[in-house]
Amino acid sequence: PARSDITYFGAGPALLPTDVLEKAAQALLDFNGTGLGIAEHSHRSELAANIINEAKADLATYLDIPAADYEVLFMQGGGTGEFSASVYNLVGAWVARQHAAVLKDLGGSEAADEAAVVAALRTKVETDLKLDYIVTGGWSLKAYQEAVRLLGPEYVNLTADARLENGGKFGKIPDQASWKLSKDAALVYYCDNETVDGVEFPEFPSALAPKADGTGPIVVADMSSNVLSRRIPVANHSLLFFGAQKNLGSTGVTVAVLKKTFLPPTITQPSPALMRKLGLPIPPIVLQYEIVAKNNSLYNTLSIFDVYVAGQVLKKLLSTFPNKVDGQQAVAEKKAEIIYSALEAHPDVYKIVPDKTARSRMNICFRVIKNGTTDESEKAFLKEATGLGLTGLKGHRSVGGIRASNYNSIPLEGAEKLAKLIEAFSKA
Ligand code: PLP
Repeated sequence: PARSDITYFGAGPALLPTDVLEKAAQALLDFNGTGLGIAEHSHRSELAANIINEAKADLATYLDIPAADYEVLFMQGGGTGEFSASVYNLVGAWVARQHAAVLKDLGGSEAADEAAVVAALRTKVETDLKLDYIVTGGWSLKAYQEAVRLLGPEYVNLTADARLENGGKFGKIPDQASWKLSKDAALVYYCDNETVDGVEFPEFPSALAPKADGTGPIVVADMSSNVLSRRIPVANHSLLFFGAQKNLGSTGVTVAVLKKTFLPPTITQPSPALMRKLGLPIPPIVLQYEIVAKNNSLYNTLSIFDVYVAGQVLKKLLSTFPNKVDGQQAVAEKKAEIIYSALEAHPDVYKIVPDKTARSRMNICFRVIKNGTTDESEKAFLKEATGLGLTGLKGHRSVGGIRASNYNSIPLEGAEKLAKLIEAFSKA
């Protein structure tokens, strides 16, 4: 089939806008009349620096990221790499804060005896170091498991587990009053949109909001599968990150948006020697935010092509929506509403998997229960869909069912086509 015949609902990598790809294809052969393709130019060139800086600025404009307070980093290693990076860097920041407090207690860095400092820090680590994870689906579970793997279970708190209130399955956000938040945790982690389970936080969790005096938990969010689709209260976060391959661009870059107070001069990562004495891990250098920030994302070779594609997607969004992310948010909500309404109209044929209070606008997960034979009905549904050019609808291998990934590049007509099929199939 031709590209124009298909609406691809795959969960990621996702559909990219055709005009962006056409421009990128040309840029691969000859970037701006330089005779060299964009993937061939040096990442150290002025041209590469411009591409990075423009993409950073456009991202900040589109999402209203306060540029004075946040650093945008282009990294590699995907969302999975950020599960590890967030642990390493924020545990390092926690130790740096405790180190400063211990030195103060012991009369300042001149007076303090090194062995006494290390002993005091060891005690603090043993009694106070905690990382909190709100687990609402497969990806936050993986992030939690990575923290346990890197640090050991004694430091990692399963603050909420959505499966406990929902018959052992994901599909609901646990009541925030039941979250067991630690005091002064090194981080509190949540995944804003769970791609596999179709669960999205309806809004920023109020339990994590900063207090009136501006203090509050150190919040980390994985926004890999819903970023750029709705307004984010950036200031409530110390770190948010997302892989490019859903709403931003092509697979190969990951964005971390980090509050500058976690970087020098406010916080400097502890020395590897000190971390070793405390029995805590240090990051591989490519995952150390301080190093990435200091080098404007170019400590090592970065795929400038992928940053370019992301930049072009942002330019397209900015030119399509004068009111920036709010404009895209309205479209995203409308598309999700069209699909969910079609499903809700036939409860005897379709079962929407997650609870209504936590339904994702981006990954719409449902079962076909017609005649009670789910497998057969779902196969038939997928076959019909493919015949109409609606592809990529098979659910994640771990949960089965149907999943319509309704990312930004799915046009309104794409959502309408799917809704029509949902209606027609229910009658067939
Ligand atoms: N977080 C979320 C919400 C995801 O959907 C994914 C991948 O689909 C990841 C993290 C992992 O990303 P990556 O495959 O880039 O490591």
